[in-house]
Amino acid sequence: MSTYAAVFDIGTTAVKGALVRNDASFYSERTVELETHYAPDGIVEQNPNDWWDGVKFIAHQWWKEAGVDPGQVAIISFTGQMEDVIPITQHQTVNRAILYSDTRAVSEAEWLHQQFPEMVQMTGNPISATTPLAKLLQMKNRNQKIYDDTRCFLFGSKDFMIYRLTGAIATDPTTAATTGMMDVRTRRWETDIFSLTGIDTEKLPRILDAADPVGYVHKEAALETGFRPETPVLCGCGDAAASAIGAGAVKSGDSYCYIGTTGWIAGIQEDVNPEAASHGLFHLAHLPEKSIISVAPLLNAGNVYQWGADTFAEGQVNDRFHAFEALIRQSAPGSNGVLFLPYLQGERNPVNDQQAKGAFWGIGPQTKKCDLARAIIEGICFSLKQVMEVLNLESNDVLTTVGGGTKSSTWCQTLADILERPVRIAPENSYMSALGAVSPAFLQLGWTNDYEDFTDRFINMPVSEIFEPSQNTFAVYRDQYKQFLKMYPGLKGIYD
Ligand code: ADP
Repeated sequence: MSTYAAVFDIGTTAVKGALVRNDASFYSERTVELETHYAPDGIVEQNPNDWWDGVKFIAHQWWKEAGVDPGQVAIISFTGQMEDVIPITQHQTVNRAILYSDTRAVSEAEWLHQQFPEMVQMTGNPISATTPLAKLLQMKNRNQKIYDDTRCFLFGSKDFMIYRLTGAIATDPTTAATTGMMDVRTRRWETDIFSLTGIDTEKLPRILDAADPVGYVHKEAALETGFRPETPVLCGCGDAAASAIGAGAVKSGDSYCYIGTTGWIAGIQEDVNPEAASHGLFHLAHLPEKSIISVAPLLNAGNVYQWGADTFAEGQVNDRFHAFEALIRQSAPGSNGVLFLPYLQGERNPVNDQQAKGAFWGIGPQTKKCDLARAIIEGICFSLKQVMEVLNLESNDVLTTVGGGTKSSTWCQTLADILERPVRIAPENSYMSALGAVSPAFLQLGWTNDYEDFTDRFINMPVSEIFEPSQNTFAVYRDQYKQFLKMYPGLKGIYD
């Protein structure tokens, strides 16, 4: 009988779970869709109990449908969305999670920025309305009762799963690095500065390493999930680190691109670049000690593609994606002169502006629906190109790309054409993050020596799909990119 490491990825659109053997092969991958609640004033929330229901559902499928014995699970590890605020109440219940993309805390972020400009140097990260510290202040200022009722705040979806399984209140350095409260070099809470903001330090979780055991499945959780009581649970890591490992980015100089609901471009470095931090780049603690992931996050990526499919194509969800792909293919590169600015949710990179919006430009009598559809993916790719330039990550090397957006072949091809470099799609990419997230479990179980050994043996496999850039498109895209760069500054004049 095989022994497995169980791994869960608590994403924005879905909870994914898989059992992983010691050769990193997956067994019984399962997915449960999640619902997100949107409201005016930038409110974006999820119910953490939905994540928990997803984990329980997947576990029960393993026992009932896949014929797995809970005794075969040697360890449980997690990854998931970061930068959330998840309030655990005094009565051990949970209020709705304020998601990373929630922008209700605009004025608190501005206040923090003015009062504590040195925070950027210390955390390695810019402060914005999405920073958990700003969200905590907003809650304290405007929802005092929820703030007071909270025993502890968690900042990563997987930390809530760990809490439900073991009762432990903990987080990992990657997730903690997104909160605006951790010194990214020491990997400890920076209590000196942030206690001045009025936030209670005792409401914060402990910071443990990804491969540290947090605790064991307690009896009640065992009854609910079917996992054996006393199964060890690891701290795991935020999705930025899991995706980086899953994309093979582990040592200094490696880089990759993620297109999920939101997106990011990331490079691995040995230290923080404070100059870059003040321009909106994040520095997150990576899994290997002292290693930093320099990340340019984009609020608009797969969500924009999804909006395009919902708006311009018909049918059920998957049919809509297919219909949208077919529509995009009816238009040629350059979209008949139409440009699209993809900032549907406001944006952080390449511009940092919560008020920014999406826009089409260049519509004429010849414009067809398919041109608008193609312009949407080109707009996202232009935005990624601009981010590459800001990050200084331009090169002709193959760019590994991961995330749900890579299911769109027109998008991958367009990305290769606009960046003028080959785009490599890793195999089984919708579980790459989960594969990265299982690496701490492999360390803990002695199934690998270190993270580099893990990526060498299990990630950088020869089989993968590569989209080569097509030289025929370079001229049109170079011209359009110059116009694209003028769109945001031009439109800002309308509302600023
Ligand atoms: P997250 O983990 O943040 O929820 P995913 O990596 O699952 O994100 O990616 C979700 C995105 O993937 C969707 O917003 C959509 O743009 C894209 N996507 C999902 N399925 C398809 C598909 N069949 N074809 C094209 N794009 C898809």
